[in-house]
Amino acid sequence: MRRSLNIRYVVGTDTYDGTIRITYSDPKDVLSPRTASGDLYLQPKAGFQLPSLNDIWTLFAGKKPEKPTSTNVIPVLPLAQYRSYLRVTGLTTGTMAAALGPGKAPVTNNPILLSFERWNYTHPTKKGEEGNWNKEKLDLTASLSKKSASQDSDILSGPVKDTAGAGAGEIQLFWVADFYRSINVDIWEQQGENMIVDEDNPVEDVPTTKLPGTNTTLVSVFQKAGIEVKLLPFKREHSFDMPSESWSVTHLNSLMAKRRSDLKPNTEDRFSVFVVENWEGTPPGGMFDFGDNDVNKTPREGSVVETDWKVPNKNWGTAVVGKKWRDLRGAVFWTVMHVLGHQMNLPHNSNTSSIMARSELIASSKSADKFPANIGYEFAADDVQRLRHWPDIYIRPGGYPFAGDGKSC
Ligand SMILES: [Zn+2]
Repeated sequence: MRRSLNIRYVVGTDTYDGTIRITYSDPKDVLSPRTASGDLYLQPKAGFQLPSLNDIWTLFAGKKPEKPTSTNVIPVLPLAQYRSYLRVTGLTTGTMAAALGPGKAPVTNNPILLSFERWNYTHPTKKGEEGNWNKEKLDLTASLSKKSASQDSDILSGPVKDTAGAGAGEIQLFWVADFYRSINVDIWEQQGENMIVDEDNPVEDVPTTKLPGTNTTLVSVFQKAGIEVKLLPFKREHSFDMPSESWSVTHLNSLMAKRRSDLKPNTEDRFSVFVVENWEGTPPGGMFDFGDNDVNKTPREGSVVETDWKVPNKNWGTAVVGKKWRDLRGAVFWTVMHVLGHQMNLPHNSNTSSIMARSELIASSKSADKFPANIGYEFAADDVQRLRHWPDIYIRPGGYPFAGDGKSC
């Protein structure tokens, strides 16, 4: 089922591209209550020619697919061009799902009305600081129709008006993907750890991110939240000068810079996770790439997981006191997903069966299972909603600074 649409919004001489995300409260019923949001990025003007609709695919996906709807690729646009968050307030008369797709009937006589608030964002003057949301929102409504039922026509388009009925541009929409967001994840593990990367695995270039004894993987956990995770192939850093005992933020930052030297920041969202024995911050890991420790002023690119930490006291349960984190089933796996949630700006969650709960809170919860058997490997419903509908600028690495508590995980 499609969940993301590309939006092209042309108003005056400005052209914006971006994504609209739609959640159905009943995924089987396209008429059930919906939550929808979107983001707009201003296309550069210098020498910019408005491409034809078919060329949009080339622009977004890097190649023109045989069938437009088969790509399942969400375009990643440069964060510096981020301009607006769209909060959809109404989606009336028919549905996107019913109206879109090759061969579906046109809706010219009964257009879809898409009402939304447009919140404009002003970037900070200094990299890495908070930008500002303009206090004034624009209330807009687009009247969208499909021009024909032909195989090529997978596009809804129509005029946009403000509350006074004045023209406010033109919108085009078409489905692109089954998920809401797509991220690349690079997991690096200190040599000899074998917690996440199994060196004996014949497929040695793929990180092993499975909860032992289950089919639960990092990819499947994020997929449930509607986020596509692409794990980057594993590569060792033989030449990196590793610290003898504890990893410092300085060491982590220099390793991260090395591993991200091939990053294409304007077309790739990549989160780096470093699994180490010990680090200088609080166990069992957390955020290090924010505030004063964010040396390139590009927040939330990296996080760290500590495996050698020993459970300190009986608050965690007498059976696990003194045990190493790496020896508790699922604990390292859970921590990787937890810190990735922080990297996407999620704060801690008081729901003790959710990924973003603090580990000590999970351990002390009054559940039938004892820690670590009571760890939940799902994001809580409110966090799922955040991951899907928060503005891109909050979620994407290098966007809004980290706002949560990334210590004491
Ligand atoms: Zn945490």
